Amino acid sequence: MLSIILCRTCGNAYPSNDDLPQVCPICADDRQYLLEDGQVWLDVSEIAGDHRFTLSEPEPGVTRIDVTPDFGIGQKTMLVNTPAGNLLWEPSGYIDDDLLQTVTDRGGVAAVASSHPHLVGASVVWAREFAAPFYFNTDDRRWITHPDPSIELWRDSRQILPGLTLVQAGGHFPGSSVAHWAVGADDRGVLFCGDTIAVVANRTASFMRSYPNSIPLSPRLVRQIVDAVEPYDYDRIYGAFGSTIDHDARRIVHESADRYIAWVTDAIRDPDERSLVISPVS
Ligand SMILES: [Zn+2]
Ligand SMILES: [Zn+2]
Repeated sequence: MLSIILCRTCGNAYPSNDDLPQVCPICADDRQYLLEDGQVWLDVSEIAGDHRFTLSEPEPGVTRIDVTPDFGIGQKTMLVNTPAGNLLWEPSGYIDDDLLQTVTDRGGVAAVASSHPHLVGASVVWAREFAAPFYFNTDDRRWITHPDPSIELWRDSRQILPGLTLVQAGGHFPGSSVAHWAVGADDRGVLFCGDTIAVVANRTASFMRSYPNSIPLSPRLVRQIVDAVEPYDYDRIYGAFGSTIDHDARRIVHESADRYIAWVTDAIRDPDERSLVISPVS
């Protein structure tokens, strides 16, 4: 049975009970929050069996892993298949032996990565289990909660598997990134976005310093994010929590950025103006 220590609020793993900080630094940051009744640490072995996993296949080559009920921040994990092995994207902190076996049966893990420090979960455990690198952006290294030799620092962009490239866009965190999968969406290209570009309720996009605390980003940073992914072909994006812009994603991301910047720069004179409405996928 695995024994790892997790912050209950964000679900990130820590190496041992012996050297825990007073509070989880990721949750004490203004992008997250501490629980009113204080920090809670969990040993994953103590909650074994409290959650279950559901697997689905949103498109060929992608397995989505949901944890029910949600654990930590509640991201949906993606396993992305390439000819050289699988990328495990944004694993939950909740993990058990059955899931390790299920992923082994699907070809195991050749690389582990996430968009930013909130959605790291048990990445180090997965990386160790499969002797795979866990890619962590250099500009966010102060947020590493579980130092380990499996961590491979990177910056700007890094091809991690054939057709799979991490792209640093910044914004939410300085090292916030997306994973670009060139052959996804029938070769039109896919971005796995985490919180870097959020897919929101009406299947358009948004960009925030803090989602739970509603702290926006500057126009400069929103432009920086859109510009960072512009060189890559993409037609579909997967957000962190199961929402997808199924196609036409580049247009929708551009129009969403324009809308966002218009609001935060007070450029909108008529809030009922119909041209502000972004049409859904065409
Ligand atoms: Zn935390
Ligand atoms: Zn986040």
